[in-house]
Amino acid sequence: MRARIGYIWTDGMVGERVGPEILDEGDRSRPASDTFWCGVETIPLERIKEIQLQRLRFLLSFTYERSQFYRELWDSKKVRPSDVKTLADLPKLPIVTKYDFEKDQAAHPPFGTAPTSPPNEHLKYWQTSGTTARPRVWLDTRQDWENGILLYTRSLYGHGVRPGWRGFFSFGFPPFIGFWLCFAATEAMGCQVVPKGTLPTTAWIQLMRNIAGTAPSFLCSTPTYAIRQMEAAKELSINPADLGMSILTLAAEPGACVPATNRLLSEGWNAKIHDILGVTETSGPILFSCKAQADMTPVSDHVNIDYFIVELLDPETLEPAPAGAPGTTCVTALGRYGMPAVRFLVGDYLRIDEHADCPCGRTLPLAVGGAVGRSDDVLFVKGIKLYPSLVEASVRSLPGLGVEYRLQKKGEQVVVLAEAEPGVPEQQYAGLAQKLQQDIRLKATVTLPVEVHPAGTFPRLETKTPRIIKG
Ligand SMILES: [Zn+2]
Repeated sequence: MRARIGYIWTDGMVGERVGPEILDEGDRSRPASDTFWCGVETIPLERIKEIQLQRLRFLLSFTYERSQFYRELWDSKKVRPSDVKTLADLPKLPIVTKYDFEKDQAAHPPFGTAPTSPPNEHLKYWQTSGTTARPRVWLDTRQDWENGILLYTRSLYGHGVRPGWRGFFSFGFPPFIGFWLCFAATEAMGCQVVPKGTLPTTAWIQLMRNIAGTAPSFLCSTPTYAIRQMEAAKELSINPADLGMSILTLAAEPGACVPATNRLLSEGWNAKIHDILGVTETSGPILFSCKAQADMTPVSDHVNIDYFIVELLDPETLEPAPAGAPGTTCVTALGRYGMPAVRFLVGDYLRIDEHADCPCGRTLPLAVGGAVGRSDDVLFVKGIKLYPSLVEASVRSLPGLGVEYRLQKKGEQVVVLAEAEPGVPEQQYAGLAQKLQQDIRLKATVTLPVEVHPAGTFPRLETKTPRIIKG
């Protein structure tokens, strides 16, 4: 007998679903086992690739038919969906970047020509976080939203979150998709949700303390703000470890995969540290860490390849990177139809091992060592590639230094600005700067000027923190 896929979260809302029905998924509304939410997580890789191809072929013909943006682009390059017969044919299609969407939306405001149906038929409106370019508008159909919920649920379950837990959401609810999807998925899997909203950090910590210990709990935050909350708790003479978080789910910036940040947070909160990563244009999460990876150094992330084709490209030429080599990511989202992302240049720098044997038993490939940086954030110093997370590893491992830092670009030069820990006398700043410079030289093989500033110099944000400053 053919199993039907359960869609009880949104069955009443989603009128018409498009795309192939993948029976391997099983019932989406409940876990497949004590360890996995989805049956797909453990099926043979060859079968997952068949699913990829099935979804891809549908997506391409659907997109060509309905999206003016893609139809014009593909026509101009003289390629058609029918030219993509296998996964290996995908690079025949052109790469799209956020600047292409930005240009399209500027020329055809406000939504551009990419949507596949009129704007009022979409369920959700989003904007990108706009840290590197002007915010771009993005739309989700009900089905897109439901697919995103499924992937977040899968990932949270992979972290170890279970129905009946309580999720604390440390964000102010801007129109930025990632946190909202995580929030909805937490609710959908049967957990209680506690939103921070506009509460000041200290009031938020007090709220956590008031209900600590009354349900197993996890915290969803950016890594930067997770550190800020630790500091705020200490200012209130509260030990963050007493706030009862077993798991930290970190989004928007590299977190669990940066060993010094992972150690700082896991010791401070007495919690397991996990990553969950996606971007607005593709939705997400593309990557998530599992319970087995949380105990490893560095943490690697599973790639949700049944919903995303992740190509790795040479960052200079944008041609496919050699097999097994690291590269910059170009992602095709297979479960998003409202504003499709086909060969969208995300720009995370990853190495993917398709056959890595994770002790958790998932067949989903591993991004080895996680995503340490995005190409938007990369700096070139004397021909050497420098990601902020590399500097972060040094800053956060040296006693006497605080956790915040910035990289200041001055012409050809990059100056590292770090903070001293509270209470460190100013006479020690020069010595600390020298130690930091030596440590960065060891890790990044480049000598950078370093300045140490008093504690609290740089603001702590709830959203993604721009670490590179100009001038
Ligand atoms: Zn695993």
